Amino acid sequence: MVRIYENIELTARNSFGVPARAKRLIEFDEAEDLMQIFADEKMTNEKWIVLAGGNNTLFTRDFEGTLICPQNCGIEIVATEGNTVHVRIGAGVEWDDAVAWSVEQGLWGIENLSLIPGKSGAAPVQNIGAYGTEVKDVIEQIEMFCPETMNRLILANDYCEFGYRDSIFKRSLKGRVIITSIVIRLSRTPNPRLRYGDVQQRVDELGGPTLANIREAIVAIRSHKLPNPTVTGNAGSFFKNPVVDRELADRLLAEYPDMPLYPAGEEGKAKLAAGWLIDRAGWKGKSDGRVGVHTRQALVLINLGGATGAEVMELAYRIVTEVKERFGVELSPEVNVL
Ligand SMILES: Cc1cc2nc3c(=O)[nH]c(=O)nc-3n(C[C@H](O)[C@H](O)[C@H](O)COP(=O)(O)OP(=O)(O)OC[C@H]3O[C@@H](n4cnc5c(N)ncnc54)[C@H](O)[C@@H]3O)c2cc1C
Repeated sequence: MVRIYENIELTARNSFGVPARAKRLIEFDEAEDLMQIFADEKMTNEKWIVLAGGNNTLFTRDFEGTLICPQNCGIEIVATEGNTVHVRIGAGVEWDDAVAWSVEQGLWGIENLSLIPGKSGAAPVQNIGAYGTEVKDVIEQIEMFCPETMNRLILANDYCEFGYRDSIFKRSLKGRVIITSIVIRLSRTPNPRLRYGDVQQRVDELGGPTLANIREAIVAIRSHKLPNPTVTGNAGSFFKNPVVDRELADRLLAEYPDMPLYPAGEEGKAKLAAGWLIDRAGWKGKSDGRVGVHTRQALVLINLGGATGAEVMELAYRIVTEVKERFGVELSPEVNVL
């Protein structure tokens, strides 16, 4: 089924809760619907993008084109080999519903990604990650539709160019394909990953490393640390953790011995904590008109009520400029700015 909305208001369709309108928005339920949508002559030369849950999207202006919204739901086990279970998840399934399902089924692999808002089709786009796990660790293949060729395609994990909050869907395939489902590999063999943050301690308090306890612990930690977008508009981490030359990282470390530093997975490079830099630049908990920086997590910019996307971007620019002046480090947004 396809549902078409003309001149639609988007405040409730983006987690920042900023106002914007789109010329058209089309929701689809089945991958086959995309053939019908793109065969329509209205789509010839039409500008389009995918808007899923809108939790990683900031509208700074109206969108003069068509937003394509996957609503296709459905989680199915497609194969089982020993303890390994292959699962197909529709792009329109809420990611956290997929995690809850896996935990109920006793399947390990994505429990550390509990409570990340958004749809499952968006998960590979920025290779969502939390608590020492990234979705790339379980993705087997991506099923998608390409309007240019009107074909359905399958891309295996190896070709997705996954990186830190990055994938081919943010690069050469950006704006060219619509992910319709993902196939992930889960396991019945327990594999608790508890070393990140205070997960271990929370899980111990709950009685040990079962799937349900790990999910509960992570939900509790996240709910305490991050603002709920249905209450306070935000898009999670606004900036990526910057990867810098090791030389610059060493110079900063000499000046700020308490500065967190992580391996970047690249020779001669190191990853810094954007939240720490913003905090040290004095922005944590600060507000500027109707926008601000969250009190418990300096990486999260918030809409204090009634803000526009342009106001959020103005604050972001001020933070980028001050961090650059103070530390010589360039922050770049994790959020898709439209
Ligand atoms: C409170 C909060 C906490 C968060 N915590 C985390 C976290 O811990 N880790 C993390 O990695 N992220 C986190 N995020 C960011 C966000 O949850 C993820 O990026 C999520 O995957 C966004 O899903 P969405 O459906 O809302 O995507 P949208 O914002 O709708 O889309 C994001 C991008 O993906 C593209 N896209 C979406 N679906 C498709 C599709 N089917 N086919 C092709 N392109 C598509 C869109 O065009 C857009 O470019 C957080 C966000 C919030 C608000």
